[in-house]
Amino acid sequence: MARNERSPLLLTVRVAPARQRYPHNTLRRFCTIALSASLVAIFILFLLPLAFFPSDISPYLPWEFPYPHRDWPRSYALPYDELQDILMSTPNEEQVKEWSEYYTSGPHLAGKNFSQALWTKDRWQEFGITDTSIVSYDVYVNYPIGHRLALLEKKGEKKEEPTKDNWVVKFEAGLEENVHKEDGTSGLEDRIPTFHGYSASGNATAPFVYANYGTHQDFEDLLEADISVKGKIVLVKYGYIFRGLKVKRAQDLGAVGVVIYSDPGDDGDETEEKGVDTYPNGPAREPSSVQRGSVQFLSIAPGDPTTPGYPSKPGVPRQDTQHSIPSIPSIPISYLDALPLLRALNGYGPKASSIGKSWEGGGLGYKGVEYNIGPSPDGLLLNLVNEQEYVTTPMWNVIGIINGSLSDEVVLIGNHRDAWIAGGAADPNSGSATFIEVIRSFGKALEKGWRPLRTIVFASWDGEEYGLIGSTEWVEEFLPWLSGSAVAYLNVDVAVSGPHFKSAASPVLNRALYEITSLVASPNQTIAGQTVRDTWSGHIQTMGSGSDYTAFQDFAGIPCVDMGFSVGPESAVYHYHSNYDSFDWMDKFGDPGWRYHVTVAKLWSLLAAKLVESPLIQFNVTDYAVGLGRYLRSLENEASQSLEGIADENNGGELRDLFDTTFAHLKRSIKKLRKAAIELDTYATELEERLGEDIPWWEWWKKVKLFYEVKKVNNKYKYFERQFLYPQGLDGRSWFKHVVFAPGLWTGYSGATFPGLVESIGERNWTNAKRWSRIIDNRVKLATELFG
Ligand SMILES: [Zn+2]
Repeated sequence: MARNERSPLLLTVRVAPARQRYPHNTLRRFCTIALSASLVAIFILFLLPLAFFPSDISPYLPWEFPYPHRDWPRSYALPYDELQDILMSTPNEEQVKEWSEYYTSGPHLAGKNFSQALWTKDRWQEFGITDTSIVSYDVYVNYPIGHRLALLEKKGEKKEEPTKDNWVVKFEAGLEENVHKEDGTSGLEDRIPTFHGYSASGNATAPFVYANYGTHQDFEDLLEADISVKGKIVLVKYGYIFRGLKVKRAQDLGAVGVVIYSDPGDDGDETEEKGVDTYPNGPAREPSSVQRGSVQFLSIAPGDPTTPGYPSKPGVPRQDTQHSIPSIPSIPISYLDALPLLRALNGYGPKASSIGKSWEGGGLGYKGVEYNIGPSPDGLLLNLVNEQEYVTTPMWNVIGIINGSLSDEVVLIGNHRDAWIAGGAADPNSGSATFIEVIRSFGKALEKGWRPLRTIVFASWDGEEYGLIGSTEWVEEFLPWLSGSAVAYLNVDVAVSGPHFKSAASPVLNRALYEITSLVASPNQTIAGQTVRDTWSGHIQTMGSGSDYTAFQDFAGIPCVDMGFSVGPESAVYHYHSNYDSFDWMDKFGDPGWRYHVTVAKLWSLLAAKLVESPLIQFNVTDYAVGLGRYLRSLENEASQSLEGIADENNGGELRDLFDTTFAHLKRSIKKLRKAAIELDTYATELEERLGEDIPWWEWWKKVKLFYEVKKVNNKYKYFERQFLYPQGLDGRSWFKHVVFAPGLWTGYSGATFPGLVESIGERNWTNAKRWSRIIDNRVKLATELFG
């Protein structure tokens, strides 16, 4: 067609045959449906569940890599039962004996054991804990220079003023432990002299008195009997309370020196008096054996006395030590050296047994001791010389880490390495040797590709003996991190000194401990197949002090366990802190087959594995709440006894009313806590069951939700015990922050429950008692709120 002005401007110019648009109808429909279906699926699978999630779940969403690891909630790369098999089958008697032989072969006093710190680090690294390092602190500490203990007798006329010339030495104490060829370390050239850690240097010549065990009550009894220790040297037996507190009380009452000896009357059935041979020929006490040890005022504050509450790093300010170590000299002696002193008191002053029941006994009657109190007669004086060198010197903790999938949940395991003597086969190296087996066992699991769910920290502490120094300084340094992430600390100090299983624990760990002891065969079986649990009474002590758990439990509010096998009345006498706590003693009397060592290694690593691997932290807070109720009931009895003697005209009635209301408040709060605790534990069990169910992948949100719920419960468990910390601390010993557990003010070792309240009642300070019950009440409420 020709074009003219009427032609349309746009013409279709056909260049090819017209193509039919969208010829594949089926495909088109399919694509449309598929696309919209997947949009709907995405909406249902990913966006819709978000609407039902709590608002704070964002860190748990899939793109945030929420799960601890790909196998969660099962163990990574190694099923839990296989891990348990490794931990049960790895430790063996020959190996543990070899490690013990190494550790006990030479002196390793705190701050003088660097080679052993290095050796420990090397072994740990060799066994697969590659991230192991030495952490050091500069610690104020004493080392022995010289000592003397002598009975001086006046020559001639007694009225004469004593001068140097008219006094003669009646008895010079040896202050040395005998050398025996049967005991390899007893004769070492560089063996450590007998002395007290943190004792004051001094030279005192004075009359002396015998003060039984030197407990607070013993000194009260002396005051009542009108026997003053002022200006005198006090002779006391070891036992019942921490030795530093004996010195503290004597010092408070004006004594000028303290001598502490080991009385065989406290040795149970295995004594020379009962016809038993003494070590090394038999299991009775070697007469010249001496218990060294620290006289720090442990119940006031452990750790470096110059840096209470903060780490002893180079250059930090140093405090005065008056509050926590003695200012009068003290020395430890054997009963052999104590005999002439005790005999010299025969016939002077009242008989000890006349003072009271707790003063009866004493195992040296057969040696001619009548146990008179004294004071020593005129013309007889005791000269006590104690020469100590005080230095600030490095101490070395060995710290090993296995990073778990969760870095904010950490289980810690520790033992101290330093000893008072060359040996220390029981204290602490039965623990140290066992520890290497624990690490070797975990190393075997690492070799198989295992990675723990929670992070594990291993610690070999230095300076425990002087005052829990290595652990205390370390906890003080890492407190913020520990407060945020520590789940539990598992301590073994003396793993074996006898055949009886003993433990102390925060009640949240009671069940885990019962379960683990039921898994391990007992080394002493009266019936075949008995487990440790079967041969153990099941009594778990409350946490006191005396080992490295103290800073964790009482300062940082981290639940702890302490365990080991120890002596009973029928066991071979354990020469605590003496040269005879040696490899040879252990091999012959303590643990001849080394089976107890191996048993502790298994218990220790299995307990750790349970706490590390279970998706839900294996705590039971109900037990804790029940425990609180029990502690309160016994305290109530104590308080009502205390109030009984107060007549109504002295406000007795008013005080009783006040007490009834105060205790009623506390009881109500503890009851509420128990209810919340039961709910939490029940919920945790429910979650555990749900974790066992298989969740198909497309129900991913169920897994996210479950992990979120588990994490929430675990956080409650983790932070539970921290709620009982009172930042201002206990009265007069503010380092101790825990309102439920502390070492007894005048016992040191054994635990006091509700210490603030107990001490106030003891002092009959009712206003303070009321104050403490309020403080405790608030802590209990905080813990209950945490569960809400
Ligand atoms: Zn120890």
